[in-house]
Amino acid sequence: MSNYFETSIEFLKGVGPTKASLLNKELGIFNYGDLLHYYPFRYEDRTQFHKIAEIHEDLPNVQIKATVKRFSEAGYGRKKRLVAYVQDETGTLELVWFKGAQWILKKLQIGVEYVIFGKPSLYGRKINMAHPEIEVAAVHKTDETYLQPVYSTTEKLKVKYVDSKFIGKLQRTLLEQSFKKIPENLSQPIIDQFKLIARHHAIVNIHFPANNDMLTKARFRLKFEELFFIQLRLLTMKVARLDKFRGQIFNSAELVTNFYENHIPFELTGAQKKVIKEIYRDMRSGKQMNRLLQGDVGSGKTIVAFLSMLLVVDGGAQAALMAPTEILAIQHFNGLEKFAKLMGLRIALLTGSTKTSARKIIHQYLKTGELHILVGTHALLEDIVQFQNLGLAVIDEQHRFGVAQRSKLWSKNKDLYPHVLVMTATPIPRTLAMALYGDLDISVIDELPAGRKPIKTLHRYDANRLKVWGFLKEQIALGRQVYIVYPLIEESEKMDLKDLMDGYESIQRGFPEVPLSIVHGKMKSEDKDYEMQRFKKGETKIMVATTVIEVGVDVPNASVMVIENAERFGLAQLHQLRGRVGRGAEQSYCLLISSFKLSAEAKTRIETMVRTNNGFEIADVDLQLRGPGDLAGTQQSGLLDLTIADLSKDTKILQVARQAAIELVDKDPSFSSKENENIQRHVGSLKKSVVNWGRVS
Ligand code: ADP
Ligand code: MG
Repeated sequence: MSNYFETSIEFLKGVGPTKASLLNKELGIFNYGDLLHYYPFRYEDRTQFHKIAEIHEDLPNVQIKATVKRFSEAGYGRKKRLVAYVQDETGTLELVWFKGAQWILKKLQIGVEYVIFGKPSLYGRKINMAHPEIEVAAVHKTDETYLQPVYSTTEKLKVKYVDSKFIGKLQRTLLEQSFKKIPENLSQPIIDQFKLIARHHAIVNIHFPANNDMLTKARFRLKFEELFFIQLRLLTMKVARLDKFRGQIFNSAELVTNFYENHIPFELTGAQKKVIKEIYRDMRSGKQMNRLLQGDVGSGKTIVAFLSMLLVVDGGAQAALMAPTEILAIQHFNGLEKFAKLMGLRIALLTGSTKTSARKIIHQYLKTGELHILVGTHALLEDIVQFQNLGLAVIDEQHRFGVAQRSKLWSKNKDLYPHVLVMTATPIPRTLAMALYGDLDISVIDELPAGRKPIKTLHRYDANRLKVWGFLKEQIALGRQVYIVYPLIEESEKMDLKDLMDGYESIQRGFPEVPLSIVHGKMKSEDKDYEMQRFKKGETKIMVATTVIEVGVDVPNASVMVIENAERFGLAQLHQLRGRVGRGAEQSYCLLISSFKLSAEAKTRIETMVRTNNGFEIADVDLQLRGPGDLAGTQQSGLLDLTIADLSKDTKILQVARQAAIELVDKDPSFSSKENENIQRHVGSLKKSVVNWGRVS
């Protein structure tokens, strides 16, 4: 039966070879099944009538009932047009035709009432409607006035008369002959549990909704099934990985105990302890760990990484940490070195700028196993970098590394793959993380170390800059230090640099007594370092900078972050920047300065920053604003190719669909029980169809 839906679209009544080839090329519709899965992108509600007085240009297509009062022809030559004046009890409206006037004049009669459907637009000061659909009101069939599907088409299709209406007609033809054949693909228990409508009902109603309620049910059912099968695939992959890949077992806790008893500089937070437990459990399990560690800026990921490394080193293996940039690698190295020294472990930094002589020594000590921990950039991936036994690879900032690079680190070991810990400071909503990284395990540090005062964030307009400066002077007088950050984006680099320099000069004039530092991307790195060091030592009080300070600076005494042109920064970036303050004991502030005129989005971003310090909440808003396209991992997961579900809106459905998939994989991983036969058949057909299953794996 399922072969029926693989019938070439060419054979559907009304299609034929020419249109079939167009549908192939333009919409990717090859067979009956493809057509049925080509869903409308919106619906027109033909049950509603507007009054002429209610119509304005922002409305989409509207439907009215009105009587033709008179005609006039206006303009000359190519601008010639026919205008019909129609009226209802609330007002008059102009209908306009630029073509086919003769035909319209024959069709429309003065004094007759029509049902008129079209898009209102503003012409001069008046609203009119160009080329509307028209039907005599008396013959207008009310039983056809349900929600009309609207399908997107292309220009190439439209010139061949394959428009939305035509596609609707094809759908109707196909559904009439086939809807009973549409196979169910979920099991009865799942259908019952989530009160889903049957699949064939859902598909009929997504194209031709009987009413709004059925449309809602159809949408829910189809979104659910779409997300369910993607999750099922990710989970199946994970099960397969856990089955296939053994991991080295690390269970000697001597070094860890020693560190805890003698050296640990602070009490771990509950969240840190929980995450370390999760990691240790993995490393003792005999399976290869593949874990994502999410934690907001300042949540203390470094020590978690170090404690994981310690376990591995205790077991006689080595650990590596790879960061996407040199600045980040150096920062990690500095953080880890402090801990490593306490334990007498050997640690080294390897980046593009490591001198050849130092490199040679590193390579050698890595091979002999004398070097315990290696921190670095992509330089770690070079073939010449050989470990004696790499037990753990920590990767920072997952999204900047491709999967290929990740797997290159994996294959650094001869026998068993190293355990892998991916760390990210750009939180994404938990449900989404689970869905996107469905094949990784996830740990979250959702708690900041105690004693941190939440950063106060305020929004100020350009016009109030002097007041802001007054505040900065107070803070500096109290002994604090200040960052003032300007945006820098590549396209407008020159302008931005000018903004920065102008800003710097006016700050110099405004703070004549205060020693300043300036750092930007066009400076030599030794000059940058020099300025950063001066600021760090407290010799300068204000650091004027572009976003180069986004990463890599840790100055606990700097407690004020001023962000100029805040409307030009994205949410994730604002949050990262704000994370530079709030590291010391003092109350910290983040001041977002913007112009008075803000786009709606910029307003939302700034309001969000003012409202919350929670990176996960911020990530949620970011997702609503930008959609999932920019999020880490979406490319690999296949979740971007969704036909009906929308990750920024359907996270609830995603959650339940994933839960259902988890339960299924737990109970019946090969879907072989009788009750899961529908699922097994559907997964089989997905695997066969390159488009759906193959592409996303
Ligand atoms: P991130 O998650 O941003 O990498 P870090 O690991 O750099 O955070 O930690 C931020 C700061 O907090 C560091 O100075 C670190 O020493 C400190 N820190 C980490 N964990 C704790 C804790 N449990 N208690 C107190 N301070 C901590
Ligand atoms: Mg860090």
